[in-house]
Amino acid sequence: MSQGYIQEVFSSFQGEGAAIEGSCYGLRQIFIRFSGCPLALGVHGTKGCIWCDSPKSWGSTPKKCLVETKPGSQIFKEIENPVTSNDILNMVKNLTSKDLHSISFTGGEPLFQESFLEKTIELLKLNGYNIYLETAFTDNFEYLEKIAENLDYACVDVKDRTAEAALNWEKLIEQELLMCKILKNSGTKVFAKTVITKSSKDEDFEIIARNCGEIGVPIVIQFVSPTAGSKVEKPTWSQINNFTQIAGKYLPADKIGISIQMHKAVEIL
Ligand code: SF4
Repeated sequence: MSQGYIQEVFSSFQGEGAAIEGSCYGLRQIFIRFSGCPLALGVHGTKGCIWCDSPKSWGSTPKKCLVETKPGSQIFKEIENPVTSNDILNMVKNLTSKDLHSISFTGGEPLFQESFLEKTIELLKLNGYNIYLETAFTDNFEYLEKIAENLDYACVDVKDRTAEAALNWEKLIEQELLMCKILKNSGTKVFAKTVITKSSKDEDFEIIARNCGEIGVPIVIQFVSPTAGSKVEKPTWSQINNFTQIAGKYLPADKIGISIQMHKAVEIL
């Protein structure tokens, strides 16, 4: 029986993305937030993205997780970790509403708990649910290829250099772009999301955009949401305006979008 560690389960609306293929922006999802993030654990030499808004997911084996009791109620009960794939199915069934679009696996990094994720998405697919994966990193590409057949949608967080997610940024984005390619080739509707800050550089973004163009994967440029006390600053409008035009050199217009974190703007989960 496959078991894993999760942080929280709740029903809300996808707050990131744009009007591009692969995005579920604005659609009702049940969010399964996995624990543990290899980037935060220093796999690439740094301690996570400097603007990370899910630091509570960094711990890989929390004792408890929070599970919403009714869709959108924002009332939670505590459940002991680890949980089984069957437990997740029951939580999802309990939170299923008529307007539910898909189940979002997020984190932390869902791909960090390989066998648990694989079994859970298999079970949810068997029960008729659509699966959306939000991911930033794996170097197990065979595994990604294997689970891709059960992934309907995916958002790969391709890190801008200013996230400081890796000492070797070029190597990290090479891996993330390969993830995009594997998912696309497997038939998953995938897009790349790049979070931009005021310090982001045209030349760095152009590398990401050119690579997305080569593999035909849409790109969403997302304004950073600075966390309390952080020195990270939002990008300016002129940067965003410039970046979308850079992307336009490599991708058709319907594969380029901008995003703000809608759930933060309207203060929902
Ligand atoms: S990859 Fe995601 S969870 Fe991990 S440190 Fe970066 S933003 Fe946070």
